[in-house]
This record gives sequence, structure tokens and C-alpha cells, in this order.
Amino acid sequence: MGVRTPGTEVVERVNVIREALIRAGHPEVTASDPDPEALLAVHSPGMVEHLRTIHDAWVVAGYPTTPGQNRVVPSIFPTAALLGGLPVRRPTATHARAGQYCYDTMTPIGPGTWDAVEAAAGSALTAVDLVATSAWGTGSGAGGRSPMAYALCRPPGHHAAREAFGGSCYLNNAAIAAQALRARGARRVAVLDVDAHHGNGTQAIFYHRGDVFYGSVHVDPAAGWFPHYMGFSDETGDGAGAGANRNLPLTARCGDDRWLTAVGELCQDARTFGADALVVSLGVDAAVEDPESPLRVTRDGMRAAGILIGALGVPLVAVQEGGVHLKTLGGLVATFLAGMAEGAERAATAA
Ligand SMILES: [Zn+2]
Repeated sequence: MGVRTPGTEVVERVNVIREALIRAGHPEVTASDPDPEALLAVHSPGMVEHLRTIHDAWVVAGYPTTPGQNRVVPSIFPTAALLGGLPVRRPTATHARAGQYCYDTMTPIGPGTWDAVEAAAGSALTAVDLVATSAWGTGSGAGGRSPMAYALCRPPGHHAAREAFGGSCYLNNAAIAAQALRARGARRVAVLDVDAHHGNGTQAIFYHRGDVFYGSVHVDPAAGWFPHYMGFSDETGDGAGAGANRNLPLTARCGDDRWLTAVGELCQDARTFGADALVVSLGVDAAVEDPESPLRVTRDGMRAAGILIGALGVPLVAVQEGGVHLKTLGGLVATFLAGMAEGAERAATAA
């Protein structure tokens, strides 16, 4: 709203999650730099270049001194209604270019943003590599628990579309992972989004595609929650993607039972869809303690959701999305992952 306030999507999030997962005994794998082609398989070249270069251009243009803003914050947005059907031209003024791909003022770009954004995408792709090598690589043995890997991505990604970023998201790590799983051998991928907010970016990226299902359980945007304009239950996909999108908006204070029923429905959808790989957009901001949503899910609820998803018994990549309550964040993620491992174990035993 034009007023600078402390952010909640902070570096410390990564530290508390990482510490909790190491404590839980998970092996740590250092992520590789992402293949640029894997980013361009999901995002437009213009937006990727913008994210990479706009902060340098902002500094060169002198805005950190006059008017005194050291973050790239847009002030004009080329909305479809503004353009009236005309193509988007590249503005000459850097402060006008700031809004070319951005849809809000809460997703600024600073000196370290691109490095973090690139590393987050690299984490998602490294997780895909681990899972794909295990699932479809040469010499992969049959039987046993289906492989899973978790990518500790920061910033999150599910609000970023093909050429629009916002909602504290820049590149869509989950969509990049889903696309990469397709490229590595999965035929049908389901993205299950349990973050407390609708993943409008992921929905938009796959809305017209029949090979990637997107399902989300989230707080009802009609009740005044981000992303406000999308995430309604009548958004079910279009064209080849008709029927491959499912939104389950929930009212505030829904608690474990209704949230888990919705997660169970998404799992059933993924089964019906015939998904042979999963991406989990793992935000834990549905939790009781989290200030960014009112869904009031308990830690036991998180574990139960993990079990439901793991029990699908297919190769799985989990990508960190939201969750900002630093005291409980690490434990919630560790609990969700433990649930997924337990579910996968059950599926392997039942098979
Ligand atoms: Zn969220």
C-alpha cells in the first residue's frame, strides 16, 4: 500500500526448516544451478531476463538516491484493460518497465533477489533429478517405496505465472518441477497445492493442458484472501485442460476435518487422473499458528495430509511454498514429510 513494512518471507524461514530437517535425520543435497532451458519451458524469456537484470538497471537509473527506493517497486501496470488489445511495448523508462511483468507492489526486487530465485528453481530441479533418476533412471530397481525428494525453495513460487510475478513469488518452482518431471519420463503429473493460498500461477500455467493436473485446497478468495481474483471452484480448466483443474476453497477456521477431507478429494482426483508423478506445493501456512491464513490446521492434521499424499505411491517432489511462523515452521515441514514417508511406506507394503 505504498508503506514500507517488515516482510514475513524472510531468510530465517530457510534456516529453521533446514535445521529441523537435519535434526530429523534427512540427508542434505546441495542444489545445482538450474538449466536455463528448464526455466524457459515454463516462463517467457522476457520475464526471466527482467528478473535477472531489472535491479541493476534500477540502480543505474539512480532510483536508490532519487526518490530513494532501493528495491524495484512498480508504479504502472500494463493491464489488459489498459492496453485494449494492443501488444505490450517495452517502456523506455526503467520505473515504467518495473511493472511490465509484475502484478503487485508486495514483490519487490532487491540486489539478491535473482540469486535466490535462481537457487530456488535449482533446488526444485535438483529434487526432480534425484527422484527421476531413482524412478526412471537406468538400473532403477522395481519394488520398494516410491522415491521422494523435498526442495527447500525460497522465495516460494506458486503465485508466479508464465509471464507475471507477484505474491512474493518470482519463478514458479512447482511448475518448473512438474514440467521437468514430464521431460524426464512422467506421462501425467499432478500438482497438489496444500498451501493456505490458491496457487494462481500454477493454475494459469497448466490451465489449458491435459497432461498436468492442478488441485488446490485454500482459504476462500471470496472471503477476502489472496489471490483475490482467482481460486474459485468454477475454475476447472479449459480446452485440453478441461477437468484437469480443481479448486477447493474453504471458509476460515475450517480446522483439520474439513481440510483433510479436501486434501483427500485432491488425492482421489490425482488417482483418477492417472498421475504417475506428483509435485506437492508444500506451504504450511494453513497451520493454527500461522498469521497469514485462518484455516487452523493442527500439526496432526499436517501429518495426516502427508500420509494421504504419500499413500498415492508415486514418485513425488515436494516444493516449499509458504509458511511464515518461525517458531513452528521447521517442525511443521518435518511433520508433513514424515507423514508422506509413512504414506509411501504403507503404499509399498500394500502393493
Ligand atoms: Zn500461502
